[in-house]
Amino acid sequence: MSNDIDLKRVRAVDILLVEDNEADVVLTQLAFKESKLLINMDTVEDGEKCMAYLRKQEPYGNAPTPDLILLDLNLPVMDGREVLSEILKDEALRKLPVVILTTSRSDSDLQAMYNLRCNSYITKPIDFEQFHRVVKSLCEYWFTVVTLPPKK
Ligand SMILES: [Mg+2]
Repeated sequence: MSNDIDLKRVRAVDILLVEDNEADVVLTQLAFKESKLLINMDTVEDGEKCMAYLRKQEPYGNAPTPDLILLDLNLPVMDGREVLSEILKDEALRKLPVVILTTSRSDSDLQAMYNLRCNSYITKPIDFEQFHRVVKSLCEYWFTVVTLPPKK
């Protein structure tokens, strides 16, 4: 079974979820909770807040550097496309893994996000069981297979 990974060896990980849809936030939190990994997940609901969080600007002065960013594309104020291009331009942030988690199936979004070097592009399944499976395999991959960039 795939839960055979030694979870004790995995340190607590910090995830930043950038998502404006309340229901999706709750679903994602639920799915992560069931993954049994030690996860500290913070949520911001627009791109401007995401950039402030990553740059530890107020009110995010004490924010951790996330191990992984889960980025929605359609967001108010500053959308996920702008966020990713901003991250790529920023020497201090460009090492952070960014996974696009979106309902968009558009080819132009897919291409644009990979052109901006997103680490993966996931189209959110509508069905919760499927979504749960996606989150679980995402956790296993990013937190037990991958070696993440060191925290400063
Ligand atoms: Mg959205």
